[in-house]
Amino acid sequence: MDLLSKIPILNEPNPRLVLRLVREAESVSRADLARATGLHPSTITRLVAALLEAGLLQESGEGQNDLGRKPIVLSVVEDAIHVVGLAVEAGFVSGVLVNLGARILERIDLPFPPAAEQDSVLETIFAVVAGLLSRAQARGLDVAGIGVAMHGTVDSASGISIFAPAIGWRNVAVAELLEERFGLPVRMENNAKAMALGEAWFGNGQGVRHLLAVKVGQAIGSGVILNGELFVGANFSAGEIGHTTVISDGMRCKCGNFGCLETVASIDAVLKKLRVILKRGDGTSSLLAQGDLDPDELTADDVYQAVLAGDGLACQLWDEAAAYLGVALANTMNILNPAKVLIGGDILPIVDYLLPRIREVVVARVFDPLKAALQIEPVGLGENAVAVGAATLVFRELLG
Ligand SMILES: [Zn+2]
Repeated sequence: MDLLSKIPILNEPNPRLVLRLVREAESVSRADLARATGLHPSTITRLVAALLEAGLLQESGEGQNDLGRKPIVLSVVEDAIHVVGLAVEAGFVSGVLVNLGARILERIDLPFPPAAEQDSVLETIFAVVAGLLSRAQARGLDVAGIGVAMHGTVDSASGISIFAPAIGWRNVAVAELLEERFGLPVRMENNAKAMALGEAWFGNGQGVRHLLAVKVGQAIGSGVILNGELFVGANFSAGEIGHTTVISDGMRCKCGNFGCLETVASIDAVLKKLRVILKRGDGTSSLLAQGDLDPDELTADDVYQAVLAGDGLACQLWDEAAAYLGVALANTMNILNPAKVLIGGDILPIVDYLLPRIREVVVARVFDPLKAALQIEPVGLGENAVAVGAATLVFRELLG
């Protein structure tokens, strides 16, 4: 479904370009825009007038200029465009209603029903969208489109979930189903890729032309921004860092391969290892072995609490995971040479614990010239990074 016709002025490339440049700049005048675009000043004046008229730009005061008259500075009217962004994860859907400044106006989270099947997962997605659209309507806001970020492999050109292992989907035309139901344009991407895009636009990746964003949760994935653009690869599978081999004769992964990063550094991998240790009767001094806790009932949150409390066993397990993450990151950095690496996903509660350990391994292993400017940080958008990234798919096309 066509997205640009929702905001007619953005049907033309030049208004989109001007809007994008104003959004990216801290403060920008008409003269700056003429210089940046190479367009004639009178053309810029006309384009800016049309964007002011459409309510997408505003004049926001005077800028700096040493030579006499101070130029009028322009800024984007962030509340001129609103978008719904969805993160469809392994057990839940998290949806946000955001404006063009990525300000979250509404958020709805719904878990999937137990033993969720295709239809019930879709119903959960529909329910989150319907809730957000009705809240938008109550606020008197138009929604320009819906962005969806799914785990697994996503055909982002057609909006199809090719394979979503945690919910057993194969070739589900999610975008088409949502467009039929809600009559709005839908854009779709893999969750880690969407996270990378959201960070590049609104988070800790702003202004970074070569960015790697790694999402660590039940699974591990990454999104790669190259030359300022999201890189999806020939088969929508670029960035599958979780399925790179870190142990040549390691455990079998759910992808069918052996020794993947995901088998040793995902939350599921850490929980699995922990349960084996506890069931064996080891680790008795750990907080996680106290009382009559059933090892099978332990959750990721229990382990995070233990790490934050300095529990030896919990820290040791995550130290091992961090070392493998460091190895995989060093390999990936050697190939891509990103200016910055961001870490996000469900492990955010312990990211400050993990980062120094990951860095240590990366520094030890990465190709020497990359060491000097090594930047590895948490994502800037926190737990909303994927849902905001999904919304960014729509903004990217509107301003693309
Ligand atoms: Zn694998």
